[in-house]
Amino acid sequence: SDERQSPVTVVIGGASGIGEATAQDLRAHGHTVVVADLNPPADDPAAVRVDVADEASVAALFDKVVTTHGGFTGVVNCAGVSTLSQIVEHDAAEFRRVIDVCLTGAFLVLKHGGARITDGGALVSLSSLNARQPGTGMAAYCSAKAGLVMLTQVAALELGPRRVRVNAVSPGLVVTPLTAPAMDIPGVRDAYLDNTPLARSGEPAEIAALLRFLLSDDAAWITGENIDINGGAHLQ
Ligand code: NAD
Repeated sequence: SDERQSPVTVVIGGASGIGEATAQDLRAHGHTVVVADLNPPADDPAAVRVDVADEASVAALFDKVVTTHGGFTGVVNCAGVSTLSQIVEHDAAEFRRVIDVCLTGAFLVLKHGGARITDGGALVSLSSLNARQPGTGMAAYCSAKAGLVMLTQVAALELGPRRVRVNAVSPGLVVTPLTAPAMDIPGVRDAYLDNTPLARSGEPAEIAALLRFLLSDDAAWITGENIDINGGAHLQ
């Protein structure tokens, strides 16, 4: 039946923002989606609680998906946290927590997702414009997202022999619960829009469409890439 052939895709961080939009988009395009999140949505009884910074939790997530669905061919990792703190006053534990979630968490998802994904499948991680554009007060986040770009390339090398593709996507500003607090800081939003040819922030659904493409066979020859999606923010 069609249901048996629908691709099974795990969306981590799928309870909010870009991940939530991605789960909706993929379902609308025929995927069977497993939402996993630190705070799983109450209205989705099949959602799984996961902490990407906790290795046992990540391994258990993918084991559960295999048990429930017989396997999976896609993973999108949208889990992320940030802080705003200048380096000279940055609490080291807070720095480590951002690295734990955004970089070590991405590693654990590639490790345990990569070990169990069906050959020919695809994993996509969320990096950021901040992987190459430093932001004041964003040392931990920028460092984690830059590291994630190289992590993606290494994983693509290692998983290529199994035809498993590994890519990253780097959005510019998308207003979500993650970025809403920074929007209250005078000038932050205007500074972004002033330097962006398309002069607007992105929509979660626009990021979801790119993620769906990277999971699909239309992207069968794309691996190890970090794809910018930012309204042209790098151009001026
Ligand atoms: P969001 O806060 O709306 O969603 C992030 C989700 O991740 C939340 O549901 C949260 O519960 C979950 N999460 C946090 N820590 C987790 C953990 N330890 N384990 C599992 N889940 C966890 O944020 P968003 O804006 O949708 O961001 C999604 C991804 O996109 C993040 O990686 C973020 O860094 C990246 N990104 C966002 C923007 C933007 O402007 N919004 C820009 C570039 C990159």
